[in-house]
Amino acid sequence: MNITKNLQQIKASIPEHVTLVAVSKTKSNEAILEAYQTGQRIFGENKVQELTEKYESLPKDIEWHMIGHLQSNKVKYIAPFVSLIHGVDSFKLLKEINKRAAQNERVINCLLQIHIAEEDTKFGFDEKEVIELIKSEAFQDLKNIKIVGLMGMATFTDDENQIRKEFKGLKNLFDKLLTLSTQGTLSTFKLSTLSMGMSGDYQLAIEEGSTMIRVGSSIFGERNYH
Ligand SMILES: *Cc1c(COP(=O)(O)O)cnc(C)c1O
Repeated sequence: MNITKNLQQIKASIPEHVTLVAVSKTKSNEAILEAYQTGQRIFGENKVQELTEKYESLPKDIEWHMIGHLQSNKVKYIAPFVSLIHGVDSFKLLKEINKRAAQNERVINCLLQIHIAEEDTKFGFDEKEVIELIKSEAFQDLKNIKIVGLMGMATFTDDENQIRKEFKGLKNLFDKLLTLSTQGTLSTFKLSTLSMGMSGDYQLAIEEGSTMIRVGSSIFGERNYH
């Protein structure tokens, strides 16, 4: 696996307004440092313990994104340093992030995860729930979180039309909420980021309006789970 070459190719092929999150889950510090040496500074992990260990042992100018499902009882471990949480899928979780952010005297940036896939195994809000959430007083009281965008994962399928349709749906919701977020005075809700697209579908995602892609295996190679 030539990490440097893979990264350079991907970076050359994506527009400038699209942010690349290098998904380093299961990969060694050595592999991450190789990516770091080519200039990559944003890395994504999906397990709290792994994320925390890597944060502690790797350069401090890395921006760490939590991209996986996050349990409320583990927020405290990443609250001191995490720079973006992609998968916020409940108000309960958001409240916990707010509490831990306050303890660390920080404001933590979050993306709301939206359920766009056909499978019901994937976490996330639907459109109605998101709108209810952001209009609720309880949400507006949270001062130590900032919702900066949305995140979604398409159905795992070869059917391009299906994937495209799901990304389009997410982009439509993003645009709708963007209107709300620019009309309002809410400092907790300022949308700029649409996180969609992984190794298999990031080109499609960018065509459909993604501004942040989360790419693992195309950079670091296939993952081995034991
Ligand atoms: C693992 C993971 C990715 C990256 O997947 P690849 O197919 O290896 O690019 C992206 N997003 C999330 C939420 C993930 O868990």
